[in-house]
Amino acid sequence: MNGSDSQSRRTPRPLSPPLELTAVWCCDDTDQAEALLSGREQGYVYQRDGHPNADAFAAACGKLHRTPRAIATSSGMAAMAAGLLSQVQAGDHLVASNQLYGQSHFLIGNECRRLGIEHTLVDPTDPAAVDAACTSATRLVVVETIANPLLRVANLEVLAERAHRHGARLLVDNTFATPHLCQPAALGADLVVESVSKLINGHSDVMLGLLCGSEAAWERVPAVVSAWGLASSPLDCWLALRGLHTLALRADKASENALAIAHWLASQQGVARVDYPGLPQHPDHELAARQFGGSFGSVVTFELPGGRGAVDALFAACPEIPFAPSLGDYCTTWSHPESTSHRKLSLQERDALGIRGGTIRLSVGIEPVEQLLDQLRQGLPGSHA
Ligand SMILES: *Cc1c(COP(=O)(O)O)cnc(C)c1O
Repeated sequence: MNGSDSQSRRTPRPLSPPLELTAVWCCDDTDQAEALLSGREQGYVYQRDGHPNADAFAAACGKLHRTPRAIATSSGMAAMAAGLLSQVQAGDHLVASNQLYGQSHFLIGNECRRLGIEHTLVDPTDPAAVDAACTSATRLVVVETIANPLLRVANLEVLAERAHRHGARLLVDNTFATPHLCQPAALGADLVVESVSKLINGHSDVMLGLLCGSEAAWERVPAVVSAWGLASSPLDCWLALRGLHTLALRADKASENALAIAHWLASQQGVARVDYPGLPQHPDHELAARQFGGSFGSVVTFELPGGRGAVDALFAACPEIPFAPSLGDYCTTWSHPESTSHRKLSLQERDALGIRGGTIRLSVGIEPVEQLLDQLRQGLPGSHA
């Protein structure tokens, strides 16, 4: 069969969307170019302003999040930057969680401040603290659904109501929950950020972010994404859409495994403490059960009394579990907040968050749970069934 034969066949659309690797599209004439570039006509001209793979991925995510608007960005941090830059300007004030992802903390604490945007850090599990921190200049309240690494859960419905009461919008980083566990917009959030690099893509081979939001919050978003160069790449969007198709299955299995592992760790003498919202002793257990409908996520944090030395010994004794400081892969991985995600914090700041040398963050994958428990038994001295 040659090329002209295959072209003359009546071929309906492919089941898997084509990967469109072009930086630019060809215009028919000057009027069309102007109409497309000005947005008067819908269509693609230049990849940084939008491309079919980004739109397909963002549309699928917007549907899950039940938001009228969604855009893919080059990373989770690009989505966070787009969320901030589209909402605030010099002279404005932010109220932010004191437990944000390290780079988000840096973005708000250093970069935004350099641009004349001030902030106040608050405990996101204390709505009264959010009330007290809001001023007439506050435009945005920034929290995470599930905070890293102690997995404190924010009451999004209450926080949205408090933010709105002060004339501010609520931006929620939902990365640890994913849209499978939680749709913050349905609880009142105006903007939602996801690091797609984590569980949504689920295979640690993509760097991508997502920003979703309401029509009212969207006015400046597309221009900010294009002008600050925050746009996504077609291949990453194509891969992430493939990952998204199995998100529900992976998230359910990983949550189920994480709950079993959290219970097992909590029963071990050699473990000083376990943080997992699915455990009844977690301070936010009841809120998490209500807000997430019975699943509690794939991340379990625990502490070894022997400090950092004991952590290295455990990692060495469990070579099948990679020490890869990210999360959300289909396979289980370790992270160590003190030396990775929270290394820029002072000892006092880490201590206030409950992060010590012996704190380990386990991102639980979708392996058979018995296999994972066997690996952990092999590494934890004196462990029992
Ligand atoms: C990883 C992560 C980010 C940043 O996402 P990138 O895709 O790595 O840029 C933001 N927030 C949370 C909670 C994360 O875990």
